[in-house]
This record gives sequence, structure tokens and C-alpha cells, in this order.
Amino acid sequence: MVKVDKNKCIGCGICAGMCPETFQMDLSGKSEVIKNEVTDCAKKAATDCPVEAISVK
Ligand code: SF4
Repeated sequence: MVKVDKNKCIGCGICAGMCPETFQMDLSGKSEVIKNEVTDCAKKAATDCPVEAISVK
């Protein structure tokens, strides 16, 4: 499962830029999951998110 904690997300856009098939920025500028599939890319985005808002398991 791939989840974004929107309370933590600062809207930097790294995850959506890195994995556009998994994440997109919503109207409030926060990331949202559009495809809930654990991919290597989603795992890397979770690692690279500066505020650890993404959980992948
Ligand atoms: S990388 Fe993290 S802080 Fe940046 S948009 Fe994605 S979830 Fe939000």
C-alpha cells in the first residue's frame, strides 16, 4: 500500500515528478496517490520525500 500523509506533505512535488504514474499533486498542492501499487519508484519516492510523508508497505 502506498499512502501520503497530507498533514506532513509540504507540496515539494518530488514524488509526482519522480513517479507520475503513482503520485499527482492535488488542487491544494499536496501529493495524492493515483495508483496504489508498490513499485521501486514509489519506494524511492518514500525515501526521498524530505518530510517522510510517504509510506510504502
Ligand atoms: S515528496 Fe513528500 S513532501 Fe514532496 S510532494 Fe511528495 S509527499 Fe509531499
